[in-house]
Amino acid sequence: MSKQFDVAVIGGGPAGYVAAIRASQLGLNTVCCESNAYADPKGEPRLGGTCLNVGCIPSKALLHSSELFDQASHSFVMHGIKTEGVSIDVPSMIKRKDNIVTQLVTGIKGLFRKYKVNFMPGLGSFVGQKDGLWQVKIGDEVIEAKHVIIATGSRARHLPGIPVDQKLVLDNEGALDINEVPKRLGVIGAGVIGLEMGSVWKRLGSQVTILEALPDFLAAADQNVAKEAWKIFTTKQGLNIQLGVKIKEVTPKKKSVVVKYENDEGEQSVEFDKLIVAVGRTPNTDGLNTTAVGLELDERGRVKVGEHCATNLQNVWAIGDVVPGPMLAHKGMEEGVMVAEVISGQSGHINYDAIPWVIYTHPEIAWVGKTEQELKAANIPFKNGQIPFLANGRALGQGDTTGFVKVIAHAETDQILGVHVIGTNASELIAEAVVSLEFAASAEDLARTCHAHPTLSEAMHEAALAVDKRSLHF
Ligand code: FAD
Ligand code: NAD
Repeated sequence: MSKQFDVAVIGGGPAGYVAAIRASQLGLNTVCCESNAYADPKGEPRLGGTCLNVGCIPSKALLHSSELFDQASHSFVMHGIKTEGVSIDVPSMIKRKDNIVTQLVTGIKGLFRKYKVNFMPGLGSFVGQKDGLWQVKIGDEVIEAKHVIIATGSRARHLPGIPVDQKLVLDNEGALDINEVPKRLGVIGAGVIGLEMGSVWKRLGSQVTILEALPDFLAAADQNVAKEAWKIFTTKQGLNIQLGVKIKEVTPKKKSVVVKYENDEGEQSVEFDKLIVAVGRTPNTDGLNTTAVGLELDERGRVKVGEHCATNLQNVWAIGDVVPGPMLAHKGMEEGVMVAEVISGQSGHINYDAIPWVIYTHPEIAWVGKTEQELKAANIPFKNGQIPFLANGRALGQGDTTGFVKVIAHAETDQILGVHVIGTNASELIAEAVVSLEFAASAEDLARTCHAHPTLSEAMHEAALAVDKRSLHF
């Protein structure tokens, strides 16, 4: 007889492993399978998905190492710290990143043991339905489950005619494993990965050129933030970002890659030592055998979901990167918790209007809620308060005063509609704004909340005061 479970989770990334842990915590007999896309050299299955293996965690490790190198090379001197002959040992930096990844993916296995989640390595695919249970093939074995949660995530989208060999032409996986500083680095796509990986290698000494198809830079961010970021990245940091580009041809040579593209100045040709392709991601649905059960996908191959991430099939749910919406680890994890709770009979909660975005460049960029341009387009009246970090004592003490905090509130109700930060530690500062949105706080609520002095968070406080034109320190 087949093994039977209350819940089968397909995919062990952040959406899937969190869903499995929560379901098991709620007393549901749960199995999680992982097709092992990121198997380690010993062939051990690796949980954690894109995020832990080739995404959030390794990229942030490299961003931190390269930021320290940049500071030692350029910023220590203003503190009176003299450094001579600072150099970077790239293989050690990569090894440190790999160790962090190993530590975390091993940790997920430990969490599965702690919370009694059954783990089965192997590709999960639908077989059919029998007596009200879904039959899912995991590796060579068919199991049965009352509920199935699809959490198969995404992989890098590649462009036709641009073969990724992970040696000269790389996607996010190869980009995290470059073992010497390329003199000339090209990046296709000025999105989140392009800017983060471009920043890593620029700090370590590469000449970085980013080729972006769209005419606007960071179109999803608030326009003031995008303008400030453009100025800092291009003028101060020297990233060469070309907008409105049409890639014509990519020709790998023995040790370099030639990219021909067109922009408003005509045809261009440029040679790089490495080329990163970072043009978005494709959902992983091909291994699922969706046709066997009639699972509905949208025009981009993502699993169609309705309320509470329910698919068109009864008791089949889908979460994370494989469904429409922001491709963010924390959004997938929240969906995982929500679905597990709904399955166990609870109401389940997620607030898609309060999902933060962070770009881990320097300065960091973070926001939650609406941008000014979105509010204008929707004819929603608003007021805003903006405070530069130059007016913040802690930022001055840290020698890092670039950027600002901007709080946008409804013109009549004063409810906070969006918060946008560009500056050091924006990723941490945004948490307070998320709580404010989650609990429908007003700018006045935030302005009346005491903030420790001297902290960067005082800029958030002052921006809330500035909404009512009563900032105290600017
Ligand atoms: P995934 O993490 O992709 O996991 C899905 C898992 O399912 C994979 O392990 C895959 O092997 C497995 N799988 C697929 N098909 C099957 C099958 N049929 N059977 C069994 N298993 C299967 N997000 C952030 O929030 N913050 C960041 O800083 C951030 N940085 C990023 C940096 C990079 C370079 C990249 C590429 C992404 C980054 N992301 C970041 C996005 C984040 O990684 C994803 O949003 C997140 O991993 C999605 O989680 P998931 O569980 O839905 O999918
Ligand atoms: P992205 O959607 O952020 O950016 C892709 C960029 O490539 C876009 O600006 C797009 O216009 C451009 N592009 C597309 N086709 C092109 C072409 N043919 N030529 C030139 N430019 C082209 O995607 P990404 O940077 O690949 O990252 C994928 C996803 O991973 C992100 O959307 C995000 O959800 C997630 N991610 C998040 C973080 C974070 O939270 N800090 C970091 C990295 C990745």
